[in-house]
Amino acid sequence: MCIEENVLRIREQIREAALAAGRKPEEIQLCAATKMNDAQAVRRAIAAGVDCCGENRVQELTAKLKDNAYEGKPVHFIGHLQTNKVRQVVGKVDLIQSVDSLHLLKAIQQEAAKQNICQEILLEVNIGQELSKSGFGEQELPEILEQMCDFPNIFVRGLMAIPPICQNHGDNDKFFRKMYNLSVDITAKKYDNVCVTVLSMGMSDDFQQAIAMGSTMVRIGTGIFGPRNYQSPI
Ligand SMILES: *Cc1c(COP(=O)(O)O)cnc(C)c1O
Repeated sequence: MCIEENVLRIREQIREAALAAGRKPEEIQLCAATKMNDAQAVRRAIAAGVDCCGENRVQELTAKLKDNAYEGKPVHFIGHLQTNKVRQVVGKVDLIQSVDSLHLLKAIQQEAAKQNICQEILLEVNIGQELSKSGFGEQELPEILEQMCDFPNIFVRGLMAIPPICQNHGDNDKFFRKMYNLSVDITAKKYDNVCVTVLSMGMSDDFQQAIAMGSTMVRIGTGIFGPRNYQSPI
């Protein structure tokens, strides 16, 4: 697997999907989902031109930060974050994409206030209403957004979703479309500490569909690094 070739290929596919949808290719950011790939692989992806990296596990993030693996590009947290680990993530990443509960918002606020910083985040939406997934329900979102004025050290940059695993291309279009509509609704409303510019959706198997439906950030792991080896985690 050649990371450099993969990044170029994905970029081209992003470009084609954007143009086919009448969108500008530069509206779409490529986030490398780096889980289970070492610092060396991360550096290669950055050198090849990804826009940012997304890390899932706190332990891996901490180790790779120590290695300066993300140098030159922003790093995002994209995995489920436990409240007892916020201290290792807040202020260490440019964006926490996966904020999935009010409880976690409170913990991030507390830590960001302590560090006297403003932490940028995305709200994760459980758009497929799956029991196995975390995230806010669509109906919950307005209430949460209303409350953002009580979180002065947090700024909401947008929404993120991981729709259900799909069998066929196009299966998730309805979820992508729902996410796009949610982001449009929020933009129209104007909440304190909220300015929606990021709609993070689409992974290796469905990023072209996500782009057609308005994604501004795709998170690609396998398409860049090849299949993950779950037998030998780093
Ligand atoms: C692993 C991961 C991805 C990328 O998945 P691929 O199918 O390998 O592209 C994207 N988003 C999140 C939150 C992930 O954990």
